Amino acid sequence: MREILVLGAGMVGISSALALQERGHSVTVVDRRGPGLETSYGNAGIIQSEAAEPYAIPYAAATLFRYAIGRTNDIIYNIPGLLRSTPALWPYFLASAPGRHARISQTYAKLTARSTHDHAPLIAAAGADDLVRRSGFYQFYRTPETFDAAAADADRLKKIYGVASTLLDTKALKTEEPALKTDIAGAVFWTSPWTVSDPGALTQAYAALFEARGGRIVKADVTTPMRENGSWRIENAGEYLTAEHLVVALGPWSPEYLKPLGYRIPMVRKRGYHGHFEMTEPLNRPLMDAANGVVLSNMRQGLRITTGAELTGPVAPANLVQLERGVAGARELVDIGAPIENSTWFGHRPCLPDMLPLVGSAPQHEGLWFNFGHGHQGFTLGPTTGSILADMIDGREDNNFALLKPENRRLRCRG
Ligand SMILES: Cc1cc2nc3c(=O)[nH]c(=O)nc-3n(C[C@H](O)[C@H](O)[C@H](O)COP(=O)(O)OP(=O)(O)OC[C@H]3O[C@@H](n4cnc5c(N)ncnc54)[C@H](O)[C@@H]3O)c2cc1C
Repeated sequence: MREILVLGAGMVGISSALALQERGHSVTVVDRRGPGLETSYGNAGIIQSEAAEPYAIPYAAATLFRYAIGRTNDIIYNIPGLLRSTPALWPYFLASAPGRHARISQTYAKLTARSTHDHAPLIAAAGADDLVRRSGFYQFYRTPETFDAAAADADRLKKIYGVASTLLDTKALKTEEPALKTDIAGAVFWTSPWTVSDPGALTQAYAALFEARGGRIVKADVTTPMRENGSWRIENAGEYLTAEHLVVALGPWSPEYLKPLGYRIPMVRKRGYHGHFEMTEPLNRPLMDAANGVVLSNMRQGLRITTGAELTGPVAPANLVQLERGVAGARELVDIGAPIENSTWFGHRPCLPDMLPLVGSAPQHEGLWFNFGHGHQGFTLGPTTGSILADMIDGREDNNFALLKPENRRLRCRG
């Protein structure tokens, strides 16, 4: 049994803690706010077993031009945000080249394919079944050209990775979703993903399970980690928590935290927003409106509309233009009532340039472990990379996931 400190109580940190606890270790989780209150709260709640390929930067010149002149709503940017992201965006662009992206996807597809399987025992043990729908989601298209391209891509994913989907025309989609009030060109119905009606509550249910099994969660804002006499030491209000192993699972805040130890880890922090709205006729499954880059999901809080990505500074004020455009587009499709809250949530997808989460031992520090950088699918992948990390700490290696390890990455993560 080892003493292990896990920093971060998002889906990734809590799932890592559960996996380590299951293997017999004594685990303490540290978070400045509490479980599931940041990125793992505000996302679209889809456990994306269909996401075989991570989001690449498109190589098509026409698409890049549309991004550059601001003609898209799925990605927007401002100049300071773009400049700040450039050191990570350039290697991200290089990793998006078709050949390299295909190699990265070989590993990525193995992660997402097991995601629902890895969540299943935790959902059952946490008694969180009421939060989970095992019935997929739709990605829909307004024009025949975009739908035909999406249908061809869904077929490609089925052939390469075995990702299940069916195609729906307007009539079929309206039968499934009576709330839909307009005709569309068609939808790809991804049948295997699960969707969650309150992602923060699922993370909290996992945290409660961890505590019920004897784990400890401490509220503390951690600063520079210290190593003394073979142990890691975290200061908490004048007291110290010490452990042989320290796992950094601080999501978008991880690179900043590791800087004092000498690690320079480039990350593109893709900001996304959500708002909650009243809706008289609920949707049965989430709808992804590809043209506007938004997802409409029925949540416990109301209809949640989440946006695509904004490249901006981490503390820049909220810019509601993407959400407003997305909501306007969504109103063409379904009747949407008044906003439920006055304030709008935003958070940042922690994306590493090679689109894979960073999981494994820190190159220069014994007993220091990384588990962050899950980008667009961290809510999906928490239990999966938590289990892979716990195996690594126990000295068990799975060659299928060798590409996740720091020593096999082209990231500049040297101490
Ligand atoms: C709009 C949007 C929609 C998304 N939709 C989906 C989706 O449908 N499916 C999916 O799989 N993923 C989705 N994602 C991505 C997903 O939400 C993230 O990848 C995931 O939540 C990251 O989890 P995490 O545990 O790494 O980080 P977080 O959940 O952010 O957890 C990090 C924790 O670290 C703590 N922390 C930070 N600094 C300190 C400090 N100094 N001291 C102590 N504690 C600290 C924070 O309080 C926080 O609790 C979406 C993201 C966004 C923004």
